[in-house]
Amino acid sequence: TCSLMWFRSDLRLHDNTALAAAARNGPVVAVFLRSVPHWQRHGHGANKLDFRQRGVAALADALAGLNIPLLHRDISAFGESPAALLQIAREVGAGAVHFNCEYPLDEQRRDAAVVEAFREEGLSAVGHHDSVAFAPGELLTGKGGYYSVFTPFSRAWHRQLTPERLALRETPPVQKPSSGAPRPAVPPPTRLADAPLDASRWPAGEAAAADRLERFLRFRARRYSSQRDFPAIAGTSELSPYLALGMISHRQCLQAVLAENDGSLAEGDAGLTAWVNELVWREFYQHVATGFPRVCRHRAFQAHTEALAWRDDEAGFKAWCEGRTGYPIVDAAMRQLVSTGWMHNRLRMVTAMFLSKHLLIDWRRGEAFFMRHLVDGEFCANNGGWQWAASTGTDAAPYFRIFNPTTQSHRFDADGRFIAEYVPELAALSPRDRHAPSDTQRANVGYPPPIVEQKAARLRALDAFKALPPPT
Ligand code: FAD
Repeated sequence: TCSLMWFRSDLRLHDNTALAAAARNGPVVAVFLRSVPHWQRHGHGANKLDFRQRGVAALADALAGLNIPLLHRDISAFGESPAALLQIAREVGAGAVHFNCEYPLDEQRRDAAVVEAFREEGLSAVGHHDSVAFAPGELLTGKGGYYSVFTPFSRAWHRQLTPERLALRETPPVQKPSSGAPRPAVPPPTRLADAPLDASRWPAGEAAAADRLERFLRFRARRYSSQRDFPAIAGTSELSPYLALGMISHRQCLQAVLAENDGSLAEGDAGLTAWVNELVWREFYQHVATGFPRVCRHRAFQAHTEALAWRDDEAGFKAWCEGRTGYPIVDAAMRQLVSTGWMHNRLRMVTAMFLSKHLLIDWRRGEAFFMRHLVDGEFCANNGGWQWAASTGTDAAPYFRIFNPTTQSHRFDADGRFIAEYVPELAALSPRDRHAPSDTQRANVGYPPPIVEQKAARLRALDAFKALPPPT
């Protein structure tokens, strides 16, 4: 008999835990269940859906090189997964399905239903921990709970890490071309009709991801700690879409660091070790989503902040989405998001704070807008980042430490280059003036006045937070 390999957010051949396990037991048939209506109901936008589709096409090609067929099925809801997989298992005579675990609640429930359905049929469904070095639940505090603060989590992560945890999984061998019973036809994954972005900006697949990692290590990594905060500089890896959909693994990234940094993840080159820290943040938020599933139910991590009096402000929200707040750095960032499907991390923090503090609009609206546009949209990191900015989360920014967008602009885009790129109507101003143009300068180029006055908006946010009941 053969085994099924059910691909989801792990669209790669190399270093894939579930695929390696499936291939250990004989021939493999790969499956992809495309759940576009489900993903859309959960707020995923066309950028990510399109990127995923192109990733599946690249994966099908790579699998074909090993004679592993990829069966592609459309389903309209996660709830259809067990029946769809069982049907394929019957058709191809598979005794087991292997998959890599995903940690948001909805995904965990889907997978539990698959395991149950297979068990009832006398077949096995095996989930593997792949996207993290430690499965959620493996790293716990002294009291036995999940970590809710990053630094002790990170210390425990480094302390307990063993080489085996980062060992690359074996690539499946070339299998015999399938003969005998005809396989169900594989509909070619097509581009989605409403994909808005130029696909060449985010080429999909493992080869593109490996190429990015290579270029990052060669040209950016050693300067990462000094350059990562400046949005006009391409100083970060831009690997987030590839990590989010598993076109590259965290192990491949960390192995590359080990090779470049004399075998260490914690000491040595400041750029490389700072980058490792970000990968640990990624893992932290996956643990948080599992340990505190309320965050997957649109709830604040810190329960007392649920009482916050968020403002109803449609016009403010619209201006933020459209990059017309009158704060050039905020607007440049929002226009970067909408036009490229990606936003620099520094600006994710600035724009998220601007929405949740200066406009005092519910962070969940911003989280959803990001998800609709990000090509790297990933529930755990996005939710974690938003709750951090809104001061409702695990390691949240203290509510009184509110980024002043204009100060951030001077610090991190000193020569106004980033603003000029994304808010071209301000490009003719002197670099200094681009951060906060005068009324006349705005009127001359049709750039809007600030929608809120910074100081007053800050005080309004502080008052709203002070009015909260004490933390429970
Ligand atoms: P690099 O700086 O090269 O970092 C390497 C990798 O580490 C990233 O690709 C990413 O996988 C991971 N990483 C880096 N920073 C973080 C972080 N703070 N939290 C978790 N993982 C991190 N990241 C996403 O992948 N998807 C999201 O939907 C997402 N939404 C965010 C929303 C907000 C409000 C904030 C503040 C941050 C969000 N992030 C998200 C985290 C971070 O901004 C991006 O991962 C990063 O900007 C991606 O660029 P990069 O690949 O060049 O990162």
